[in-house]
Amino acid sequence: MKLAVIGAGWSGLAAAVSATKQGHKVTVFEGSRTLGGRARAVPVTLPDGNALLLDNGQHILIGAYTETLQLMQFVGVNPDELLLRLPLTLQYPDGSGLKLPDWLSPLDALGGILQNSSWSWKDKGSLLRAATVWQLQGFRCPAQTTVQSLCSGLTQRVLQTLIEPLCVSALNTPAERASAQVFLRVLKDSLFGVRGGSNLLLPRTDLTALFPQAAATWLEKQGFSVHTASRVESVSQNESGDWIIKGTAFDGLFDAVVLAASASATAKLLDQSAPQCAPPLGQVMKRWTAQVQAIQFEEIATVYAHAPNIQLAQPMLALHNDTEHPAQFVFDKGQLGGPPGLLALVVSANTENREAVQAKVIRQGNAQLAHFLDTSRLMAVQTIVEKRATFACTPDLQRPAACIAPGLFACGDYVEGPYPATLEGAVRSGIYAAGAAFANRALPPRLNP
Ligand SMILES: Cc1cc2nc3c(=O)[nH]c(=O)nc-3n(C[C@H](O)[C@H](O)[C@H](O)COP(=O)(O)OP(=O)(O)OC[C@H]3O[C@@H](n4cnc5c(N)ncnc54)[C@H](O)[C@@H]3O)c2cc1C
Repeated sequence: MKLAVIGAGWSGLAAAVSATKQGHKVTVFEGSRTLGGRARAVPVTLPDGNALLLDNGQHILIGAYTETLQLMQFVGVNPDELLLRLPLTLQYPDGSGLKLPDWLSPLDALGGILQNSSWSWKDKGSLLRAATVWQLQGFRCPAQTTVQSLCSGLTQRVLQTLIEPLCVSALNTPAERASAQVFLRVLKDSLFGVRGGSNLLLPRTDLTALFPQAAATWLEKQGFSVHTASRVESVSQNESGDWIIKGTAFDGLFDAVVLAASASATAKLLDQSAPQCAPPLGQVMKRWTAQVQAIQFEEIATVYAHAPNIQLAQPMLALHNDTEHPAQFVFDKGQLGGPPGLLALVVSANTENREAVQAKVIRQGNAQLAHFLDTSRLMAVQTIVEKRATFACTPDLQRPAACIAPGLFACGDYVEGPYPATLEGAVRSGIYAAGAAFANRALPPRLNP
């Protein structure tokens, strides 16, 4: 069977590899010249004139990303080499904060809470009580609940130094607007899932090299093509039921199609394709597109900054943040395979323009990292603002189904599923779509129940 995959981000490449494993003939179309979509390499020039590859945004993987890690290994990447594995640590530049010991879960979480010397017994008691209730309730709650209301019994200190940074980094949505059900699912999988599920896995290479390039090379070795700079402009169906793909560099006929572009790009593609399709396909495409168009998005800003000789106490630190100090985390790229002195400061759920967020983050870094800076000052190298980094993970969000019509599927971090917009959500969605594309049975009503 011939399958077209449109988009070579992490979900599209996961779909392509997975379909190839099942014996199908796959062609991948990617509109840009770089593989990886929202998790890709970006060329940058340092103040000393040296060029290097950074990312469109600093990413964190965790040990619970089981499907992503398996797929990386399958296409020949060694995750132990390319990812630095650390126990979950949310420590601030002054050394305060949570650090889990390297014990079996959930004992690691219990040990980390009890050993946290910057929390009082009242803080620890409030978290242990809440966590017990969440576990007894099977990590479920009413769909309309926000993370803020879920955590209303916690002390301010636990809220500000643990829940808010965890929530904004995992869901890219502030606690007052974030879905408690999705947050609980992330906690369950990371704290009560596989051993080391809560471990942080920090990339030691650029994001294109981490999986997308290896996946494309693997596909090409199996005899299949990954066309870059090849934007698809319409998807329609002929009378025999074949799918017609028309693009900037290629036209072709396929038995099935997986749309793996972002939410907005897929909606645009279907919107312009619908008039070319006979009823009822055109209406089906329009209905599906309307649901996607209702999704709201959140930004992420990454400020790359440099100071000669700066070395943080750990590869990643949490930062105290408010509107004037917007970054939540800082990463020491020198400890992650990059040049010494280069930092990545991350602003999840960003609301400022590029110049404003860069100026605030540089001021924040110089103030909060003064201890590591000796006499030098941080200088901005490059700031990348991703306007539609992730969907806003709000309570009771209706996400579109993977199956649009028989033979026409969508995958991506925004498609129906239990996870927030993450690499793991994207990869799982890609694997699911590849399996469903040629299955003769009816689809289960929900992805990954
Ligand atoms: C700054 C930033 C930080 C993030 N941090 C994290 C993190 O720490 N941890 C984590 O797990 N996740 C993180 N995420 C989320 C993660 O990157 C995404 O969930 C994931 O990359 C989405 O992959 P995708 O395949 O669903 O979509 P995309 O990556 O958007 O891929 C879609 C692809 O389709 C292509 N395309 C679009 N239209 C067409 C067309 N018409 N024809 C052909 N090709 C087309 C695009 O060029 C793109 O390559 C972050 C995202 C951003 C932006």
